[in-house]
Amino acid sequence: MQPETCLAHAGGVGDPLAGSVSAPIYQTATFRHPRLGESTGFDYSRTGNPTRSALEKTLAEMDGGARACAFASGMAALDAVVRLVLEHGRDAGRSRVIVTEDPYGGTVRLMEQFFRPAGVVPVYVNTADTEAVRRELNAGGAAAVLAEIPTNPLMRVADVPALAEAAHSAGALLAVDNTFLTPYLFRPLDCGADIAVYSATKYLGGHNDVIAGTAVCADAAAGARLAAIQNATGTAPGPMDSWLLLRGMKTLAVRMDRQQENALRIAEFLSRHPRVARVRYPGLADDPGHEALRRQARGFGGMLSFEVDAAERVASVLERVRVFSFAESLGGVESLVTFPAVQTHADVPPEVRERLGINDRLLRLSVGIENVSDLLEDLENALR
Ligand code: PLP
Repeated sequence: MQPETCLAHAGGVGDPLAGSVSAPIYQTATFRHPRLGESTGFDYSRTGNPTRSALEKTLAEMDGGARACAFASGMAALDAVVRLVLEHGRDAGRSRVIVTEDPYGGTVRLMEQFFRPAGVVPVYVNTADTEAVRRELNAGGAAAVLAEIPTNPLMRVADVPALAEAAHSAGALLAVDNTFLTPYLFRPLDCGADIAVYSATKYLGGHNDVIAGTAVCADAAAGARLAAIQNATGTAPGPMDSWLLLRGMKTLAVRMDRQQENALRIAEFLSRHPRVARVRYPGLADDPGHEALRRQARGFGGMLSFEVDAAERVASVLERVRVFSFAESLGGVESLVTFPAVQTHADVPPEVRERLGINDRLLRLSVGIENVSDLLEDLENALR
């Protein structure tokens, strides 16, 4: 099935009881066994629940993976993925993980505040520069490379097939945080990655009404270990959140088409604006990531960031927007504007933020599905 069809039918697993078209919500903690030694296939909802299974089946299918696991948040998914790759590295005595140098701030917080004290060594590299990653792999090895595409909020684009080759030839796994593009636009596993990981709170859910995450493994044995981690740590989403995610995913394709169409119009408008110093959107033909993303993906997504001409303008833009909401998060139908330096990336050390360009002039837009003329007018009023 084509992705649009797979999405529209998300969770339509066939309900033998009533034939419901929408996946039923199995709001139960436990399941009755027919008799000793027999099970319906479900025993306890932390381990497995039919609503969550319907979701996980769709997620695996969308990414072309052997197995997907759903999580209660994107961070829970990332935490499980790091545990999984560390297991892979343990036999070879590798405790280093190469991480994109400008990932979502929560990824840095997880690595620095929790994994580093436990003996893991995160190494931050520009993963859009494959040779820099290769040098780091040759210098000290790694259990895995954890790349984000495009990066949040600098919109840098990694060459995933080349990264996969570099990682694998050094015995490392490649995990890709594909939150911004979703499997509708980009399938990391098709490009050689071992794991795709998502904050499903964003485009997969799409309505700013659920916190969730997912990770998809190319390999069945790795998928089974991921499910063991999900079960042991109790980090799966409940049945209602699993259903909300399924419901959201049904419209992912049409939402994403509209969001990227709007994002391109906004990126073009901002590029010409006298009060905007720089726009970062890989959909623009002159963006450094344009060619790399065009080769790998079927679209450029609905996220962009831009620098205003002066730091003082940021506060007035955030106050004056009416259609955009000044809020943290992304990927929903409503447009949001975020100030990364004080919101999503506050946990990144200030000197690192400044070096990378996550500065006091940078704003990030998550472009929604509204009429683009309302969005353009809103930005014009806010910048004026
Ligand atoms: N990965 C990326 C790229 C994100 O932008 C986010 C959140 O903004 C996360 C992971 C974390 O996801 P969640 O907020 O669902 O835990």
